[in-house]
Amino acid sequence: MASGPAASGGEAFPPDEGPRSSSPRIGVLAIQGDFKAHKSMLELLGAQALEVRRPWQLPGLDGLIIPGGESTTIVMGIERSGLGGPLKDFSSGGRPVFGTCAGLILLGSSHLGLMDIDVERNAYGRQIKSFEAPVTVRGLGDEPFEAVFIRAPRIERRGTGVEVLAELEGAPVVARQGSLLVCSFHPELTDDLRLHALFCGLVDGHRRDTHDNAEVSR
Ligand code: GLN
Repeated sequence: MASGPAASGGEAFPPDEGPRSSSPRIGVLAIQGDFKAHKSMLELLGAQALEVRRPWQLPGLDGLIIPGGESTTIVMGIERSGLGGPLKDFSSGGRPVFGTCAGLILLGSSHLGLMDIDVERNAYGRQIKSFEAPVTVRGLGDEPFEAVFIRAPRIERRGTGVEVLAELEGAPVVARQGSLLVCSFHPELTDDLRLHALFCGLVDGHRRDTHDNAEVSR
């Protein structure tokens, strides 16, 4: 049976030629959830965005968003498509990953284990499945985010390397560990681009660093 790009119907970017030759290439894991909204936001910010469903799409990317949705469904999709190991390799090579809501759950210790956080799913109560709250994010100005929480997860423990960028009711709702960024709400459901812009900044920084190192070692 045929396999590979043509058979699975997806696209991939060719190898990156460095920050001066093109805009950043950012994938959005497109197993389930509102990946199209993330893609549109990235495009508004000038990035090239790609829906990712297969491992062979990862090498051409500078960064990846794992969107919200249903984490159990996304986990099953990752297993089915053999993306678990490749996602870990992608991140351990230093490329930035942004996990939102279910994506935050996936980055935590119970799943991919990329970020040093323990997460409780659906932690904001059964009755209040969804709510909006103003959230001020450190480094993104005084204007709060109108954050949309939908059966949101809560970070119950974080390692010392995890920096909290915003809190709600005493728990982190935006956090960063090196090139990993997470938020427990859905930034793609508003037209506020600031968190995506922050992530694009991490991607740009990583591209510059890797490109400069490659130039030095040449
Ligand atoms: N409750 C969902 C889960 O556990 C996450 C919610 C979301 O992504 N909106 O997967």
